Amino acid sequence: MTIISTAVASRASLTLGLAGWLRCPRCRSEVERVAETYRCVACRHSYPIVLGIPDFRLYEDPLIPLEDDYRKGEKLQRAAEERTFAELVAYYWTLPTYPATPPDVSARSIHHVTTDATRIAGYADLLGTGRRFLDLGCGAGMLARAMHDRFNVCVGADIGFRWLVVARRGLEEAGLPANLICCCADHLPFVDGAFDTVASVSLLEHVTNAPAVLGECARVLAPAGRVFVWTTNRFSLAPEPHVRIWGVGFLPRRWMPGYVRWRRGLAYEKKHLLSRRELARGLEQAHLPVHHFAVPAVTEPDLAAMGRAERALARVWSVASRVPGLGRLFLGVFPVLQVVAARRPARPPA
Ligand SMILES: [Zn+2]
Repeated sequence: MTIISTAVASRASLTLGLAGWLRCPRCRSEVERVAETYRCVACRHSYPIVLGIPDFRLYEDPLIPLEDDYRKGEKLQRAAEERTFAELVAYYWTLPTYPATPPDVSARSIHHVTTDATRIAGYADLLGTGRRFLDLGCGAGMLARAMHDRFNVCVGADIGFRWLVVARRGLEEAGLPANLICCCADHLPFVDGAFDTVASVSLLEHVTNAPAVLGECARVLAPAGRVFVWTTNRFSLAPEPHVRIWGVGFLPRRWMPGYVRWRRGLAYEKKHLLSRRELARGLEQAHLPVHHFAVPAVTEPDLAAMGRAERALARVWSVASRVPGLGRLFLGVFPVLQVVAARRPARPPA
């Protein structure tokens, strides 16, 4: 632990100036660097820097106890020293998870990460360009990686410490700075208005209070900035992607965990999929009244990972979404909700 910590900390410093945008997630006061911690100048709370990654979490990842998250991160860091990014992602899924992850689910996760560049290319133009970009819930860091040619500084944030270790391997492999922060999405450790674009991809379905997360996205957004959300739709006509079961979202929420356990023996207590209406309401509550939903492109890697019935449905959607007027009808039942939101409409070109 000590050897790795020293080696990694020495090369993992934040892009110049980024430390100045960090704030205490408890009281939003400035923080100062004191050895291997950030300390709040007002409430005096300390936040550790672990393996070179600042940890501003107020609570642990609901999927894994704090100490297990650190231990897994250390193990992944050791593995990262002798593996490529793709090998590290595959290695991640050889480590135990609690409860155990079925092989088909972990295989889909690996496939999703290794083909994510194609998916991102389909929506990259919606993220705009600018000085600072935040990928909230960055996971393996593919989006933060892809945005480096559009933004001066890209930051990846995630509640899963272990995933940030994986993300760092990918950024290093691409020769990019690894600005990675461990934090809770509803208590962001950033100054108001820090980012031109905040993206939340595959995050909201994993949080219990989506409006609070969207509120934090809005707070750290520059006045003319935009929030991009990509999340699994509760009322999708396709199988629920985390457990691969059809129709889960149409059940009352309290029945979902029991149904998923009965069908596949998997836990489902920690998934909170939103409908299009719930997401729109959350954006309005977060003072992001301008929002535009769109049907995302179905990529070839996505089609390759689908079963026959799902693929046939996806092809119908693909065609229908390109027919003017018809696409909007499908928005509410498409597998993914994709939306760009802002505080006010973009100024028309002069
Ligand atoms: Zn504080």
